[in-house]
Amino acid sequence: MSLENFDKEIFDLTNKELKRQCDYLEMIASENFTYPEVMEVMGSILTNKYAEGYPNKRYYGGCEFVDEIEQIAINRCKKLFSCEFANVQPNSGSQANQGVYGALLKPGDKILGMDLSHGGHLTHGAKVSSSGKYYESFFYGVELDGRINYDKVYEIAQIVKPKMIICGASAYTREIDFAKFREIADSVKAYLFADVAHIAGLVVADEHNSPFPHCHIVSSTTHKTLRGPRGGIIMTNDEDIAKKINSSIFPGIQGGPLMHVIAAKAVGFKYNLSPEWKIYAKQVKANAKKLGEILMSRNFDLVSGGTDNHLVLLNLLNKDYSGKDASNALENAGITTNKNTVPGEIRSPFITSGVRIGSPALTARGMKEAEFEFIANKIADVLDDINNTSLQEKVKDEVKNLASKFIIYNQAMY
Ligand SMILES: *Cc1c(COP(=O)(O)O)cnc(C)c1O
Repeated sequence: MSLENFDKEIFDLTNKELKRQCDYLEMIASENFTYPEVMEVMGSILTNKYAEGYPNKRYYGGCEFVDEIEQIAINRCKKLFSCEFANVQPNSGSQANQGVYGALLKPGDKILGMDLSHGGHLTHGAKVSSSGKYYESFFYGVELDGRINYDKVYEIAQIVKPKMIICGASAYTREIDFAKFREIADSVKAYLFADVAHIAGLVVADEHNSPFPHCHIVSSTTHKTLRGPRGGIIMTNDEDIAKKINSSIFPGIQGGPLMHVIAAKAVGFKYNLSPEWKIYAKQVKANAKKLGEILMSRNFDLVSGGTDNHLVLLNLLNKDYSGKDASNALENAGITTNKNTVPGEIRSPFITSGVRIGSPALTARGMKEAEFEFIANKIADVLDDINNTSLQEKVKDEVKNLASKFIIYNQAMY
């Protein structure tokens, strides 16, 4: 029986979501449109198989084919990041990070990560996350210019003496200097852990410097700039760390691996390894740069004054509306973004004075600088007249018209 016949409720809602994704401009920096082949294998019979353990070391029989699949995913992941060991089982970026901590830290150990309100991630030690509950967390941030001051990170590290330093962020617009972080980590004999969840797609295309060989351990998501299925990965060049990572993921925090997702990761990696990937990654950066340039020419401030990667952060401290107001107005105009705190923030994390805007998803639809220029001007129009709801309606129609020219999925697919 088809899903449509068996469960009309879920079928209809999924189609509504498909239409939403197609009709509007998806500019949440962590989102992307994955490939049909990735979705095909993710929706396959591989979901049926229990394969606790690792290739050729399973607790269940009948694993000969999933062993091959996972080994292909591992091999492609290693090739992609030019590293020696990869674990492709983490169910998400957060679980990858939990696995990293479990492998190298004991409860109560000190970790030093980027402050959530400065662009870091919850799993880098925030008190509401298990990373901030099990470990004693300390933070560095960005200066008012929106950049990490590595001398300050060094000073904090000397005082804290952490067991691990975490670099990588969810809302940072400049290139991260992994070599500098390694010098700091070495000065206090800490592990250096890079979480490249946001920038991995750029890293593997050489559009951002690589965390290897500088970092002891690297984690990523596979669904953000990498454009694969929802999931996490962990990489290292150190055999001893690799062994600890494997047992920290299984049996440490996970049970049977999601074999359908691991196969989908392999398919995604095949795309990442293709010559076209570099073209995509370059365009992601060019589009974010164009977006930033036009917004600045329309008198908007950007955190750090621009971008080196796939996202820009609008700084609205000099405007009379908040990040929440701005992202709501843009949503009404068919442009999906998220509110974000900015350096020198004066509002609560629920209101904020910034908006994070990313280019990966629209670049996946085939949009280039000309479209990003058009969109940036629409964003500026809407924000400059933020209470004008009829303008928002008008822009929503224009946005829909633009989106209709950049087909990403056909209507038969969900
Ligand atoms: C998104 C993100 C994660 C978490 O990934 P999930 O798959 O949502 O758990 C971890 N670290 C960073 C830096 C991220 O941006």
